[in-house]
Amino acid sequence: MSTFKALLLDMDGVLFHGDRALPGADEFLQAISHLPYCFITNNPIRSPAMLVEHFVRLGLPRVDESRFVTSGQATGEWLARQQPDFGFYAVGAAGLHQTLSQYGNYDPETADFVVVGEGEGLDFDTLTIGINLILKQGARLVCTNPDHNVDASIDGLHRVLPGGGALVAPFAVATGQTPVFIGKPHPLLYEMAMQRLGVAAPDCVMVGDRPDTDIAGAAALQMATALVRTGRFGRGEKLPSGLEPDWDCESLTALLDRWRDACPETFGTKTKAG
Ligand SMILES: [Mg+2]
Repeated sequence: MSTFKALLLDMDGVLFHGDRALPGADEFLQAISHLPYCFITNNPIRSPAMLVEHFVRLGLPRVDESRFVTSGQATGEWLARQQPDFGFYAVGAAGLHQTLSQYGNYDPETADFVVVGEGEGLDFDTLTIGINLILKQGARLVCTNPDHNVDASIDGLHRVLPGGGALVAPFAVATGQTPVFIGKPHPLLYEMAMQRLGVAAPDCVMVGDRPDTDIAGAAALQMATALVRTGRFGRGEKLPSGLEPDWDCESLTALLDRWRDACPETFGTKTKAG
């Protein structure tokens, strides 16, 4: 068994679908609670403070805000590294605006960066402002995450929503500028989580549902990887070639069972037949 000291966890499709916690998520989080771990998400819609409350609403344990690293935070960090005290114009959900405001200044007149994220916000007016900032002011086009579409649960029904990669496309087409994408598989989210936990990549396992983002980004950093088939890929579905996770399990419960079999001293013993 690959060994690891710390865990990085994706959330959508791993711990929950929209407003519904997945079976086994609570038990999994209890079983790893003594280990260093962070949640890293390509979803910029909720700020870390909002995610704390989201966990509580779903019946998951209340965890500290510092455990969440979002693509909104990683984007803010990346922008600040390019240009301290930057101005931004953001198109996306309220959580993205709140998060970016902690790193830079909202400036629809002379922004240095046009940032596109997931959620509501794209319309004719915001697209027009954004492309004028890029074409006339020289602003750079940045997107919080490359996902073309994302899965959501709305009133209990599965819906596919446009991801960052789709929402940024009109800006790219209108301006001819290629966006910079910050979310997984870009290394910054993983690096921010490792820095918070004080661990190195070979110490970590990444648990996610998407081979192209969660698993690919972690593998590139030499992390161990675990895929759960409760999100983008279902049981038995063929994965893209070249992306072989160290663990490939139908659920978090099945993954925890395998870890408990291999390392009962770390993860405890099974509470029910696996
Ligand atoms: Mg996911």
